[in-house]
Amino acid sequence: MAKSKLTGLPDELLRGALVALRVDFNVPLDADGGVADDTRLRSCLPTLEYLRARGSRVVVFSHFGRPGGVPRAELSLEPVAGYLADVLNFEIGFCPEAVGSVASEAVAALKPGEALLLENTRFYPEEKANDAGWADALSYGAEIFVNDAFGAAHRAHASTAGVAAAVIARGGVAVAGLLMDRELCFLGGALDAPERPFVAVLGGAKISGKIDVIEALLPRVDRLLVGGAMANTFFLAMGLEVGKSLVEEDRVELSRDLLARAGERLMLPVDVVAGDAITSDAVTRTVARTDLGADDVVGDIGMESARMFADELSSARTVLWNGPMGVFEIDAYAQGTFAVANAAAAAADGGATVVLGGGDSAAAAEKAGVSARLTHVSTGGGASLEFLAGRELPGITSLSDQVGTDQNTGDKNTGDKNNTDQMKTE
Ligand code: ADP
Ligand code: MG
Repeated sequence: MAKSKLTGLPDELLRGALVALRVDFNVPLDADGGVADDTRLRSCLPTLEYLRARGSRVVVFSHFGRPGGVPRAELSLEPVAGYLADVLNFEIGFCPEAVGSVASEAVAALKPGEALLLENTRFYPEEKANDAGWADALSYGAEIFVNDAFGAAHRAHASTAGVAAAVIARGGVAVAGLLMDRELCFLGGALDAPERPFVAVLGGAKISGKIDVIEALLPRVDRLLVGGAMANTFFLAMGLEVGKSLVEEDRVELSRDLLARAGERLMLPVDVVAGDAITSDAVTRTVARTDLGADDVVGDIGMESARMFADELSSARTVLWNGPMGVFEIDAYAQGTFAVANAAAAAADGGATVVLGGGDSAAAAEKAGVSARLTHVSTGGGASLEFLAGRELPGITSLSDQVGTDQNTGDKNTGDKNNTDQMKTE
């Protein structure tokens, strides 16, 4: 069942209304406690601006890091409020608690067009426990709940599923914000109605965390390109030597089964960059996958494989990419990932829909300098994987079902590049 969206609500309903907005302001910090990467903040701006333009009174909340249910000064959201105002030009108040009398007063004092950021919801044990009473308090009597926190959608916490339930219980609506809608549009679009050829690229450090994604994607894709450490486990399943490379012994059987089922659709690297260690001073060489020695550690796909993958990407009309091809953090093992990043960007330049998921993958695309050229870079790491694996996400299932005329365009082929550009350059 399709879920209600913010853009489906009439402006009159939003005007002057108290709106509870869940965002994902879980940003990385630098050594001085400043915002190291503001992607997540920028990504939420369209929803904040949308509500401001319609005169809503917006109470905003988010989790931040892992304080473990108690206040921790270094995980306060106060600097984030400052950053929004000073750097991103979005004035927002800050309240040093999420639930309590101080917050209640501050929320009651909100005027149309104003927004107030509450303190980190994870300072309270009730957040992770999805405590219904606390969630009700956190919603401050709002009859409209907007969830824009795709990155937290795989968790059934008080500030996500709990608030949605509280608002719906009092006769209100719980809707997807602009970012949430966009994520669902692209990730869901790739799964449900991909323009073909549909090519998925999977990599990264683990196979276990992504095996369900492979299972879910296999029947839908025309090609599945596998790099990163995941490929090593497949090599083992093929009876190849992988030396001291990162592998998952307990997934070898499963990999063998997947290889048998996938046939030609599953493509593995034919050559790799191997070294004596995964360190910046490692001595490396490129070898065929059949020539690995007992002391080798695989750190990247080789150039022949990168060309082969790039070739597949060049004819794709839909690309879904999750997981770097190698240890891109180290220069000697970064070339395979950069080659795939450039090929993915070139495909997007040529009109293909290119969707990237995963925190490290997003960092890799950024390092390769191609992020802005991709159609969509998901802000959800774990959430995007769970979504792609076909699991239900509580942050989404808890939203109100779409009814009658509550439809909107949601057309993923119009103006998305513009949105992306806007988000990147604002
Ligand atoms: P994402 O966050 O995009 O979902 P993952 O967390 O699954 O990606 O994996 C990212 C990590 O995988 C990177 O830090 C990278 O160094 C590592 N990685 C990629 N290839 C290898 C490899 N061959 N050996 C060890 N680690 C690898
Ligand atoms: Mg990761």
